[in-house]
Order: sequence, then structure tokens, then C-alpha cells
Amino acid sequence: MKALLVNPWICDFAAYDLWLKPYGLLRAGTVLRDWGWSIDLVDFLDRRDPELPAYLSRPLPRNEPFGRGKFPKVPVEKPKAVAAVERPYFRYGLPRELARKRLGEKARPDLILLGTTMTYWYPGYFQTLKLAGEFFPGVPVILGGLYPRLCPVHARARSGAEIVLTGGGRGELAAAIAGLGFPPPPPPDGDEVVPAYDLLRDRSALAVRTGLGCPHACSYCAAPLLEPELRRRKPETVAAEVAGYRDRYGTTDIAFYDNALLFDSGNHLDRILGLLIRSGVGLRFHTPNGLHARFLTARTAELMKETGFVEPRLSLESAGEDRQERTGGKVSNRDLVRALGLLEAAGFQRREVIVYLMIGLPGQALKEAERDIRFVNSLGASVSLAAYSPIPGTPDYLRLVREGEIPEDLDPVWQNNTVFPARRGLFPLEAIRGLRELAGRLNRELVKTDRMTPADR
Ligand code: SF4
Repeated sequence: MKALLVNPWICDFAAYDLWLKPYGLLRAGTVLRDWGWSIDLVDFLDRRDPELPAYLSRPLPRNEPFGRGKFPKVPVEKPKAVAAVERPYFRYGLPRELARKRLGEKARPDLILLGTTMTYWYPGYFQTLKLAGEFFPGVPVILGGLYPRLCPVHARARSGAEIVLTGGGRGELAAAIAGLGFPPPPPPDGDEVVPAYDLLRDRSALAVRTGLGCPHACSYCAAPLLEPELRRRKPETVAAEVAGYRDRYGTTDIAFYDNALLFDSGNHLDRILGLLIRSGVGLRFHTPNGLHARFLTARTAELMKETGFVEPRLSLESAGEDRQERTGGKVSNRDLVRALGLLEAAGFQRREVIVYLMIGLPGQALKEAERDIRFVNSLGASVSLAAYSPIPGTPDYLRLVREGEIPEDLDPVWQNNTVFPARRGLFPLEAIRGLRELAGRLNRELVKTDRMTPADR
């Protein structure tokens, strides 16, 4: 039996490849393989497809350091729900003709598995499903990932997939496969499922998770809904996986996808990094999800420096102490000041540390957002702004529904953080642009100040 894994297009106002790997989809691929299926992949987000330049009317976006970069894109029509938003809308990934070619090269599978992440990218998922359906009519599709888990009603009603996985986990996949009439898979064996990265063309940068869950429950975050239990993998297993990518694939960059990488680091991350030091490291590490400043210890900061963490990212979200408390109390300004001190003492430059702040939070005024940016800048760290968007099922989402700010069945395209804060004019797009410009200018000034000699200052 053959399964074709499909990593779909993204449709959005903006998208960037910050170590965006089809992690869940490739894990599902490993599970299928263990059950005796042969698996193949069509990756519509493959920025390294060798034929891309021939299919693009503009030069291919440059690759940026450490395996990040811009996706090629084409303008597409906006979904009706956001038609009035005055920003262009794009489909990111392989141009349609190249995507068609890649699908056409594949043998007809018995099953298609489509993986998803952001809920508001669903127009890209649907376009991918439609195209795959043209090539392989009658082949059943299983839709998995975050979108159907967070928006099950929408995904069931609108996607057209035969099976929509709303729970996650191998048991649900096994039931879906049996339900489609394939031989029922054997019961799960062990807990360790690593992604089938052998299917990716470009393995220079890969994503790894050392565990699931988070000990906090922030009011805007879906992690407590999706992974209510904190579970850590064995440090030895994680270190062997990471070293294996380096040795087998020549991987140079690893992005940790954990929600709580630093939690109990003495028993977890420190041990992983210690084992990697013994194996010779030779990698760079990235933390796109943002680290908990409160959990950072001096020892962990030293190990992070020694093992090659680059531009460590810390999550502050807001510098307003009331707001920090109200949203879950995961971090305080004192925690951030302390963590920056530890990272600096370990050898990181302050401006190299990136601090995430959220803008457009419910009830947040523009002045508050500006104050937060200036606060982080005053500590010498760089700012990265993430616009707030409501995630279904989170306490903040439910409150917005209760208060009549959003309908319960808000179209998922409005869960897009590029446009949600601008909804009803509360945080206009120009204001967000202005905040981004302010953060960019202050970040650049940090670099300039760093390059000045003491006499210049
Ligand atoms: S600490 Fe981070 S991962 Fe955990 S609930 Fe809060 S935002 Fe989510």
C-alpha cells in the first residue's frame, strides 16, 4: 500500500520560512512506514526545488542564514471574508505548473495524507487538495495537523477530505485507515516517532522536539489544549537523534519546536546538550518558539553558548505587569532582565538575543505596544513583533466571543495575525506597520551602537 504525503501551499498576506518543516506530516509518514506502507512526499513548500528558477518570473528569493528564507509567491485572489483588507494576498510555495509536475511524477497512491499548520492558511490547503484530486481522482484523503484540530467543524464542512483528524495521535490515524477499508494497523509500539526526514530534499536545517506540552496555561495559547500533558523524551534519545541528522545528512542547523524547552533544564536540556558536547556538536541551534526566561539557569546559558545556540529567542509578549499576570504569569520583566544577564555572562551579545512581543492584544493600546518595544530596547535586546490572533478554544478566544467581539464561528482567515488586530479598526494596519518600523529602527541602532568605539559614544 502506498501513501502520498502532501505538504500544502500557504495562502496568506505574508509568510516566511522560520524553520517551517512538515514535522507532524513526516511523523505520520514514519508511523505508516512502521505499519508496512510505502510512503512518498510532495512538498509544495520546497524552497530548494532545483527547477524553481525555470518556473519563476522573478529571481528566486535569496537563501538567508541558518536555513531560513523567503518562499516564492504569486498573488492570488483574497478569500471573501477578508476581501476588504487593503493588502495583497499570496500563495506561497511552488508555482502551480511546477507543483503539477511534481504531482505528475508520483505513482497513483492508495491514500493521500495532507498535513496542516496555521488555521488561516486553509485556502492554500484547499487549493492543494483540489489539485491533488485532479491527479489522483478517487484516492481517499486524510486531513491532519493543527487546522482540523482547532477548527474541526470548518474542516469537516469545507475541506472535502474523506477523513478529518481532529484529535491527533496514532490511535486516531489507525482508526481512520481501518475505516477506509485498509488492513487495520498493529497496536502502537513505544512512544518514539521521529519524522521521516529522509523524504525531504533539503536537510541542512531540521526541526526537533524534545518533549510535548507546557507547565503554563497562557490565555492566548493553544498549547494547553493540544498537549495538556507535559511529556519529555529521554535526553539520550534526543541527543542521538540530533547527532544522527548531523552524521547522516550533514545537517547544520536544528530548530527546537518545544513549547517548554528550558523547563527543568538541569534534568533535561542540560543533559541533552552535555551529550551533544561529548559527540562533538558541530551544529547550530535555534529556538523559534521563544524560551521561558524564568526557567533559564546560568548553567543552561553556558551550555547554550558552548553548543552553538544562535540568536536565542525569549518570549516576553508584553512588558505590562498587569497583563503578564492576567494572561497566565509565565514571565515578568524581572525574569527577562535576569535571563539577559545570564545570557550575556555566558558570552551572548545582548542585541543577539531576540525578545518576542505581541501587538494587537485585546484591549492593548498603541501606546502600550510602543512602550513595550522601548522597554526591551532599553535592555539592549532585539525586538521581534508577533501580532496577536485569536486561536479557537483558548480562554481569550472564548472571552472575545462572550463579549461579542467575534462570532463563535469566526472564519479562520480572520485568525490571521496579519489582519486580526486591524479588525474593526482597533489596531490599524498602518499603526502595526509603524510599530514594526520602530522596532526595526531600534534593532538597527543596537547594531550601530555595538560597532561604535567607546570614543564615538
Ligand atoms: S508558556 Fe508558551 S507554550 Fe506555554 S502556554 Fe504560555 S505561550 Fe503557550
